[in-house]
Amino acid sequence: MNLNALNVTLVGIPFDESSSFLRGPAEAPPKIREALHSPSANLVTESGRDLGAESRFRDAGDLQLPTGAAAFGAIEQGVAELLETGDRLVVLGGDHAITYPLIRAFAGRHDNLTILHLDAHPDLYDELDGNKLSHACPFARIMEANLATRLVQMGIRTMTPHQREQAERFGVEVVTARDWSDAVVGSLEAPLYLSLDLDVLDPAFAPGLSHHEPGGVTVRDVLTVVQAIRAPLVGADIVEYNPVRDVNGVTAMVAAKCLKEVVARMLEC
Ligand code: MN
Ligand code: MN
Repeated sequence: MNLNALNVTLVGIPFDESSSFLRGPAEAPPKIREALHSPSANLVTESGRDLGAESRFRDAGDLQLPTGAAAFGAIEQGVAELLETGDRLVVLGGDHAITYPLIRAFAGRHDNLTILHLDAHPDLYDELDGNKLSHACPFARIMEANLATRLVQMGIRTMTPHQREQAERFGVEVVTARDWSDAVVGSLEAPLYLSLDLDVLDPAFAPGLSHHEPGGVTVRDVLTVVQAIRAPLVGADIVEYNPVRDVNGVTAMVAAKCLKEVVARMLEC
């Protein structure tokens, strides 16, 4: 499959019913778009590409979702339909629970997915508060269903004994926040999927999050990793932005910045 010169489609998934602590991420997609198009900034990536004039980049709007468990099937189906075009897809969450149905759709199209997962949390719980579809569980569901060949997690700083067992069981490669380095990124092979939970960032850089976990990385650390990606990136999600907690929209700008650089990687490799 020729992955070159494909188009990139943006889609929002306004879902936060699987959040364990606070609601709010369902309101994120329009806020991140607003920041992306804010007159206080521009749409030019750090590589000099103007996304505002980029014919290969389009916005498909937000998925319309039913409430309850039916949302998971609707997310998978809606994303599978968008993937029919052959486009690469960048998804704005929503909470991290959406990554399970997202990867189900991607795995239907791509064998041997590698997932690069940036997060304060491993999200490998077998269940949380009796919910196996919690935003604390997506990578347990993905790995037990063999939907990815390789899972590399970076920025982790909340590993519990249970999740350490899960990581060992599934062969997850973990780069903790303490050992943060982009060294592993060059070894990642196509087809590659990036899952960016914004709480990988220190709360100082991203207050608009449900789970403030100190000791995180900087925005520049995340951009360095994104820009180090060389394998074709077939899909990405940017999740857990919670506008209810944001301060002056600063976290929306951070999400929009990350979005621009992820789209640049998709257009350029
Ligand atoms: Mn997460
Ligand atoms: Mn997290």
